[in-house]
Amino acid sequence: MQSYRKELWFEVPTRRAFINITPDVQRCIDESGISEGLVLVNAMHITASVFINDDESGLHHDYDVWLEKLAPHAPVSQYRHNVGEDNADAHMKRQIMGREVVVAITAGRLDFGTWERIFYGEFDGRRRKRVLVKIIGD
Ligand code: ZN
Repeated sequence: MQSYRKELWFEVPTRRAFINITPDVQRCIDESGISEGLVLVNAMHITASVFINDDESGLHHDYDVWLEKLAPHAPVSQYRHNVGEDNADAHMKRQIMGREVVVAITAGRLDFGTWERIFYGEFDGRRRKRVLVKIIGD
């Protein structure tokens, strides 16, 4: 069995964003030389997510509206966590959208359903943050 590890770094200029990182993950698989195995992709921060869904801008807008209804950013004073910071909503959004995904690798490719893509969900951006990619297999 072989293994491979890489950190992908992001600095999103806005507080919230969804970024399709599927090509970055495929590049890691290509670099690893692993053709049969599993890839784990996880956010290394508790205010960001990695998830799989459709690469469709209307859906991403809908997610943003939905998450703002569930955990509105403002007023920041509504959250007990926000003593000296203002990102309580980002912790909650991350919890809903998830920490990580695991995808099968078959013949050197992400073994996806038709519309599946991997996204980095940022909920407290404007600083450097990272995603771990770990691949095991042969
Ligand atoms: Zn916090």
